[in-house]
Amino acid sequence: MADYKAPLQEIRFVMNEVFDAPSLWASMPRLADRVDPDTADAIVEEAGKVTTNVIAPLNREGDEQGCQWNNGEVTTPEGFREAYQTIVEGGWNGLGGNPDFGGMGMPKTLVVQFEEMLQASNMALGLAPMLTAGACLALDAHGSEALKEKYLPNLYSGVWSGSMDLTEPHCGTDLGIMRTRAEPQGDGSYRLTGTKIFITWGEHDMAENIVHFVLAKLPDAPKGPKGISLFLVPKFLVNDDGSLGERNEFSCGSLEKKMGIKGSATCVMNFDGAKGWLVGEENKGLAAMFTMMNYERLGVGIQGLAAAEASLQSAREYAFERTQSRAPTGARNPDKAADPLVVHPDVRRMLLTMKGYVEGGRAFSTYVGQWLDIAKFSDNDDDRKKAEGLVALLTPVAKAFLTDRGFDMCVVGQQVFGGHGYIREWGQEQLVRDARITQIYEGANGIQALDLMARKVVGSQGKLYELFAEDMAAFIEEEQANPALEPFLSPLAAALERLSDVTDQVLEQAKDDPDAPGAASADYTNLFGMTALAFMWAKIVVAAAPKAEGDSSGFYSGKLKTAQFYFQRMLPQAVALAESVRSGSGSMMKHADNEF
Ligand SMILES: Cc1cc2nc3c(=O)[nH]c(=O)nc-3n(C[C@H](O)[C@H](O)[C@H](O)COP(=O)(O)OP(=O)(O)OC[C@H]3O[C@@H](n4cnc5c(N)ncnc54)[C@H](O)[C@@H]3O)c2cc1C
Repeated sequence: MADYKAPLQEIRFVMNEVFDAPSLWASMPRLADRVDPDTADAIVEEAGKVTTNVIAPLNREGDEQGCQWNNGEVTTPEGFREAYQTIVEGGWNGLGGNPDFGGMGMPKTLVVQFEEMLQASNMALGLAPMLTAGACLALDAHGSEALKEKYLPNLYSGVWSGSMDLTEPHCGTDLGIMRTRAEPQGDGSYRLTGTKIFITWGEHDMAENIVHFVLAKLPDAPKGPKGISLFLVPKFLVNDDGSLGERNEFSCGSLEKKMGIKGSATCVMNFDGAKGWLVGEENKGLAAMFTMMNYERLGVGIQGLAAAEASLQSAREYAFERTQSRAPTGARNPDKAADPLVVHPDVRRMLLTMKGYVEGGRAFSTYVGQWLDIAKFSDNDDDRKKAEGLVALLTPVAKAFLTDRGFDMCVVGQQVFGGHGYIREWGQEQLVRDARITQIYEGANGIQALDLMARKVVGSQGKLYELFAEDMAAFIEEEQANPALEPFLSPLAAALERLSDVTDQVLEQAKDDPDAPGAASADYTNLFGMTALAFMWAKIVVAAAPKAEGDSSGFYSGKLKTAQFYFQRMLPQAVALAESVRSGSGSMMKHADNEF
């Protein structure tokens, strides 16, 4: 089994050379004092060590042992507690957190790099810091000063962990029909009653306290999503001096048995009059929870990318070691019985497809991180507004596209191993099982696609889409004279034109067909993702070209050749996707029930 090694050269290349993140940080006064290139580099280096040496080695054992439930208590796999403690000691939970409450305040362009390494090394364990960081974001944005002071420092440090409690047995996507109730107690607190299912890390033995962020309805709440409120519900009540008090009235009823991420606890949580406190305003809980969910959505997209990176690492190593058959052009290894797999065109197709999605995807997650940084730290109102729009547009693409392709790339990596990918020994089957959930949780990918198409694109009458199209068009304009981009600029411009045309067509279809956005959504999201990755590959070419000539390491010259592969062998899928979207909703909406 190939051990995961944090791809530090790739990460530094994307962060520093493709996006020149240090210049972005220096350009924004609120960030300039906080992070410089040396600090960022030391963080990347340390993240690489912790994830490669401490967290990745537990991935297999975690899958085999799983979490154990005993009378409401959950025991984590061997080594998880110690590894979580390492995460706490390094302050990794609070890497991007608010410094006023103990966070490190690092920019997202840096934080996404840590997130990728963490999730690639061990997705099951990585979910704990990810959920905690998301919980902190929601509390910081919507909680009262008193709640923030009481809870944020221990959440940022990771001494306490966070969990997100939305799903109920009868409602996942449609949260408006939830049944969990919250009764006001007249002293500022509430009592929560109901059952939540599928709650990741809802109970465990790694942190001293677990702070649940629970969606529930007040007695007089309006029906539907506008009647949902968000509550902070700690496992142990917290005294005024910050010490832990009595245990709250809720417990973990059982753990789900599941396909993958077996090292993580997926809990049924029973709230029996549990004491909680409102976060944000009454009946505005969904909006407050969305602060957390949007964070998690990019985080889950990064999980997909991370799984694909892990898959690429092992498949690449295997393809150079395993010998089968001879190269079509003659023996590469005449002194051996057969040549390595990598000589075969179809194996190269698989490896390069993985490289195309992984390296393009890493650039895309950093691109979204860049807009998140501008939205948060820029002093310029126009820039901030534009960045907020782009983040809203790109978040569902990052979640759905990176996880759909992430899962596919785990399967492709498995295929490189042949039968050895199907058995446990090499770890590929675990990757496939682990990556699958990323397409489902945090809003199934069909819902992400609908969010992109119906809410963001049609809902803004194309205005949010224009922000992306303008950014891409400006790049094409600026790079007209760049000789390195000569083979790429015209297919890139054609890809943008195709996406813009299709967008206009769906806007038109939606005027008199309410099913049009839903029918277009999945293919449109893929089309968007393919186009955005072409944009990312063009950016990669700009950064790599000056160093590619005479590059004996193959790092930079390999980037140019993979860009060529992406444009010639992967991007053409966009043509078919566009054709499919253009056909409208008829072929899927005309079936009568008995015609399915
Ligand atoms: C391992 C695991 C961990 C999880 N962790 C958490 C957690 O920590 N906290 C938490 O609250 N939840 C968690 N979940 C729940 C998860 O977020 C939900 O399962 C997910 O959001 C989908 O909800 P559902 O399962 O009820 O599916 P449903 O809502 O029943 O959807 C079923 C299918 O129908 C589609 N669909 C539904 N409505 C529409 C529509 N309007 N238009 C088009 N298509 C639609 C969906 O896309 C999906 O494909 C977890 C789930 C699992 C399995």
